[in-house]
Amino acid sequence: MLHVIAKPTTGLRKLAGWAVILILVTLGLGCRERQLFRPTPQMKIARQFRIRVLLLNNLKACTISVPGSFAVATGQTERIEAYFEKPDQSTKITLSGGAIVIANRPFKSKQITILPDEPFVFRLNERYYRGNLQLLLNESGSAFQAINVVPLEAYLAGVVGSEMPYYWEPEALKAQAIIARTYCLYMKKHFGGERSWDVRSTQASQVYAGIKAECRPVWDAVNSTIGQVLLCTQADGKQGLFPTYYSSTCGGHTENSKNVFGEAFKPLAGVDCPYCRNVTKAGILFWPTAQFDSSYITKRIAQKYPKLRNLGQIKTIQATKESKYDNFSRITSVKITGTNGKSGYLRAEDLRLTLDPSGNKLRSTACKILKEAEDKFSFVAGRGWGHGVGLCQSGAQGMARQGRTAYQILAHYYPNSYISKVY
Ligand SMILES: [Zn+2]
Repeated sequence: MLHVIAKPTTGLRKLAGWAVILILVTLGLGCRERQLFRPTPQMKIARQFRIRVLLLNNLKACTISVPGSFAVATGQTERIEAYFEKPDQSTKITLSGGAIVIANRPFKSKQITILPDEPFVFRLNERYYRGNLQLLLNESGSAFQAINVVPLEAYLAGVVGSEMPYYWEPEALKAQAIIARTYCLYMKKHFGGERSWDVRSTQASQVYAGIKAECRPVWDAVNSTIGQVLLCTQADGKQGLFPTYYSSTCGGHTENSKNVFGEAFKPLAGVDCPYCRNVTKAGILFWPTAQFDSSYITKRIAQKYPKLRNLGQIKTIQATKESKYDNFSRITSVKITGTNGKSGYLRAEDLRLTLDPSGNKLRSTACKILKEAEDKFSFVAGRGWGHGVGLCQSGAQGMARQGRTAYQILAHYYPNSYISKVY
């Protein structure tokens, strides 16, 4: 049951005076440490440093719990103070008659923000997160988004511990923290204005698992690099953030961002990486043949690229452009020809993620494409894991093991960039 502490008030600042119930919850965390919630830092930070993470999309229902008291803000002006009768139990959030319903109480507003009091954490379904939870109803009232509005440094703790094993070298974790910070601020600045969120919580942006991913080495990496980002000279001559892409294992040489994402940046031209091969297991450095039926390939391409539907059944896939390095090459563009005799072109990375959005089977475009039979394609002799642009995470670990600092690692993978502080 949702208990409202004060009558709805006008004015966001008007708080009901009452004692805060603080409940400390013990959790089994990813780092095999059991720890109490530490209060979330930076809760009063300026808006430009709050990251809006799309946790769940197209929701019809979810569950929430908040360890202590919280406020519910609806629209711009209304705010009520509340707490759940059983704070450690999940409470349902559902939809009814085009309204979001929390614990059987409907809210008329399209946008509802739940603002937990200290330690500023909440649980959505099975995961704990820091910061606030925004529920955003779509136009028709048929579904809603769950968005975590979280201060930058707290967000980063949830990313660094998700993107890299916490037991990796501290200097590799620090490099990861700096580029995760840079990446999300770049995405927020360039795309956040057009949508209700800045980044996704998946590999489509960078993986963010909330508090589960946190532990001491991760927080040490975040805190010891606080506010640090990478800048470079932009096409217009000004200094600015750039998208510090990174991937798991490049396989031998990183890729030019222009070949993968269509945009060139000086620090993302691609560099030699002799480091990942020494730290990565053979099963990661080389991946097994991935095979797909022609009918599956045709269907996936037609779904994602409607203008390629007129090709008919896909008959050939031909690598038309490759980046070639010593002992290593990566396909960057493919020509696809169908039974109608027509052809279309795709970036190889786009084809890869179209055929295997998880990236677990078709792990990179550093491979060869073979037509095995009339209706089967094989991707063979594959190397590396991921798009290969920017920092190679396995390579960063390799450099750190050799005693290089986070700054030396970043200077290697992002030449022509430099460190700056945003606060
Ligand atoms: Zn590498």
